[in-house]
Amino acid sequence: MSVLSTRDPSCTASLSEAIRTGLAPDGGLYVPRELPRVELSTFAGAHEIGPIAARALRPYFAGDALAEEISQIALSALSFPAPLRPLPTQASASMLELFHGPTAAFKDFGARFLASCLEAGDERDPPTILVATSGDTGSAVAAAFHERSRARVLVLYPAGAVSARQEHQLTCWQGNITALRVLGTFDDCQRLVKQAFVDPELRAGWRLSSANSINLGRLLPQVAYYASSSLAIHRAEGRPASYIIPSGNLGNAVACVWARSMGLPIERIVLAHNANRGVPDLLRTGTWTPRPSVATLASAMDVAHPSNLERLRHLARSLCGAPSLEVATLRSLVEAHSVTDAQIRATIRRGDKEWGVVFCPHTATAAHVYRELPRAEREGRHWVLVATAHPAKFEQLVEPLIGRAVAVPPALAELLERPTQARTVPADLAALARELEG
Ligand SMILES: *Cc1c(COP(=O)(O)O)cnc(C)c1O
Repeated sequence: MSVLSTRDPSCTASLSEAIRTGLAPDGGLYVPRELPRVELSTFAGAHEIGPIAARALRPYFAGDALAEEISQIALSALSFPAPLRPLPTQASASMLELFHGPTAAFKDFGARFLASCLEAGDERDPPTILVATSGDTGSAVAAAFHERSRARVLVLYPAGAVSARQEHQLTCWQGNITALRVLGTFDDCQRLVKQAFVDPELRAGWRLSSANSINLGRLLPQVAYYASSSLAIHRAEGRPASYIIPSGNLGNAVACVWARSMGLPIERIVLAHNANRGVPDLLRTGTWTPRPSVATLASAMDVAHPSNLERLRHLARSLCGAPSLEVATLRSLVEAHSVTDAQIRATIRRGDKEWGVVFCPHTATAAHVYRELPRAEREGRHWVLVATAHPAKFEQLVEPLIGRAVAVPPALAELLERPTQARTVPADLAALARELEG
């Protein structure tokens, strides 16, 4: 299947080209020409995320250079579980735990899949990968590419805006990975990466690729855990799943919307944002108000200009035809709420006390939105709280709130033993160009 840019439908590429390059040359984001429909019978006998991903993604790769390899890529990249656990004391709610990969956040799914796709095609001309991170993407991408691919990776993260353990995970790699501590915000990091992609000199000098969720190779595998969890609920209860998704750049949100459009048994999709409330405000008022990002406890979601909003709006436009109906159509695709730091703290405390579950600050935004649902709505559906990271990554916040230590998963413990190294750079393109020169 070919893909096209959100900005110009005549700007097309094959899916594997789109994965190799990341951003479309016109500055738009690649989207599938159409979202394939799948029958639920396609998934008969498949229960683990790897085999489900292989079947869900096959139609996207039909006719592509990677078509033959896609099953193997899915099975090897998505080789750790995404368990759905009932939420204690709640009649019909579960947590989808996406933090059992090498760096303990959901970004591992997309990063490993992307690395496998690029590795399958990088024999002759290994890419230079730029990745802006608000904390979790960078380490997932570093872990996925470290010493495995010939690709070189530059990770840009905002100085002082990630947790101590996140920073450790970002800076403990070396070899083909360079960690850049940028004197700016996450939005600055994201802007620098986008500028690099459209800069003629940098484009000519390097085969640049992006590992942010602007890259389809990150987004598509995320469809798989919405498929596996909604199928599990549908098989057990004969009803669809509804999701509450902690959201920043809206990659996870787009993946869930795409999964529903493909015919998977998904009903409502509710986005939980932190105090960066651009998306909830857009849906409420109908207009986008540009604002700077604000720092919150759920720092991986501190995004003022979510890049994947462009994909959601593109889908809304293609569904409704008339630009005047775009926001109304967006409202029919997703709902969105904003959660304050005080509510995040209170939810972490109460989650531990009342449900015996320790949330990371991001997952806590979803748990807060769930708690605030009117009772009839809460009990009338099977709600899935998407748990995006392990609470041990944010122990400096979480442990004082619950009054005890959070056990560190073994993969994370191993990374925290390693020495670290980072280069501090100003937030401008010239500095990034110098780092590329190495
Ligand atoms: C990246 C991240 C998010 C936000 O996900 P998007 O796909 O960017 O909306 C939420 N929680 C955690 C822990 C993250 O790392």
